[in-house]
Amino acid sequence: ALQLQGLTKAYGSHQVLKDINMNINMGDVVSIIGPSGSGKTTLIRTLNTLETLDDGEVVLFGESFVAKPSQLNAAQCKAGMLRIGMVFQNFNLFAHKTVLQNLMLAPSYHKLYSEQDNQQQALYLLDRVGLLAHAHKYPHQLSGGQQQRVAIARTLALAPDIILFDEPTSALDPEMVGEVLKVIQDLAKDGMTLIIVTHEMDFALSVSDRIVMMEDGAIKVSASPQAILDLDNDSYHYARLRAFM
Ligand code: ATP
Repeated sequence: ALQLQGLTKAYGSHQVLKDINMNINMGDVVSIIGPSGSGKTTLIRTLNTLETLDDGEVVLFGESFVAKPSQLNAAQCKAGMLRIGMVFQNFNLFAHKTVLQNLMLAPSYHKLYSEQDNQQQALYLLDRVGLLAHAHKYPHQLSGGQQQRVAIARTLALAPDIILFDEPTSALDPEMVGEVLKVIQDLAKDGMTLIIVTHEMDFALSVSDRIVMMEDGAIKVSASPQAILDLDNDSYHYARLRAFM
């Protein structure tokens, strides 16, 4: 399981994460929703060591690999990044590399597989996201939806235990949102552990085991989609959640 224990972070005097605690079992899909500025992006960036924490620990399979900056060493940091992949809002593909090279770069750098296996896996993953025919194109030759599917395949190439998604469809034209959500849905069906920051409430309700609502750096609701759909119309949480539906 992945355990977030007392995660705390401030930018100056602004407390962005306030004692975040959560347990996520392997195979679970957790969606994080909440208003702009509530700390969603900061939270998931701390999980793969893109941000440091002021306090608290991230524990994966009983092993702590993210801690306070003073305790963080490079090896732990690398382990965290390899085991917890991230898909960004703006795809972040390498513009001057082909699609295939984008997938092969990190596994090659970390010497995870032989070059032949690396290429074979990359082609398999491109096929899986429906982009095999585009393997030798450059990112700018693809639509936003296709670029995001490449980014997802690139993350899969490192065989992570968990994938984090930071608003994966919010930079896309509306007609491309569906194809990216479909790929994420397929990963969920395959049993991948996913943590998804999203404003797509219908998608979150359909794909998630749990919906977490953040507000002002803290978790305000953590419940199953069914429990959220069953919330009393008059309750405080219902009114807050309605804002995202
Ligand atoms: P959004 O939905 O708009 O992406 P969010 O819930 O993901 O919002 P964060 O991006 O995590 O929120 O930001 C939380 C707060 O931290 C915001 O008030 C933001 O302005 C602030 N913040 C984020 N990054 C930094 C930084 N590098 N330096 C200073 N303040 C920051």
